[in-house]
Amino acid sequence: MAALDRAARSFLLTELVMGFALTFKYMFKAKVTVNYPYEKGPLGPRFRGEHALRRYPNGEERCIACKLCEAICPAQAITIEAEPRDDGSRRTTRYDIDMTKCIYCGFCQEACPVDAIVEGPNFEFSTETREELMYDKNKLLANGDRWEGEIAANLQADSAYR
Ligand code: SF4
Ligand code: SF4
Repeated sequence: MAALDRAARSFLLTELVMGFALTFKYMFKAKVTVNYPYEKGPLGPRFRGEHALRRYPNGEERCIACKLCEAICPAQAITIEAEPRDDGSRRTTRYDIDMTKCIYCGFCQEACPVDAIVEGPNFEFSTETREELMYDKNKLLANGDRWEGEIAANLQADSAYR
């Protein structure tokens, strides 16, 4: 009986017809793919992308070198050195992140008391070498300057839940 059923299915091209029917069904539905990189999907305000160090509106660095981010980082990806400035404020002289170690957990951002280190919305930072993923303070501050508008908007959008 099973052989007869298989033969009938083959003769009537049942699988082929079912396949075409499925194709036609999805042909008229909304597309679930996007034409990346020309189109991009939406990102939530909590998206954890490339790191950035932020400044205050007057240009002063937010980071006060408390090293909480360095202490909490489970991947030990952050290295900070600091010393007091002439005015007595404490600032970093070195702030490195080894992005090859980072697991994008967001703990550094959560630990920071002044919203200095953040994970921004940028996810397009692939490189050709490992060395390019050794971020220093200048690179992180430059990221902050570049993405401040989006970062501030995301923090504001998420402020009710923090
Ligand atoms: S996101 Fe997590 S792993 Fe990456 S630097 Fe921050 S604390 Fe470390
Ligand atoms: S980035 Fe934030 S948590 Fe890390 S040392 Fe600076 S102030 Fe402290």
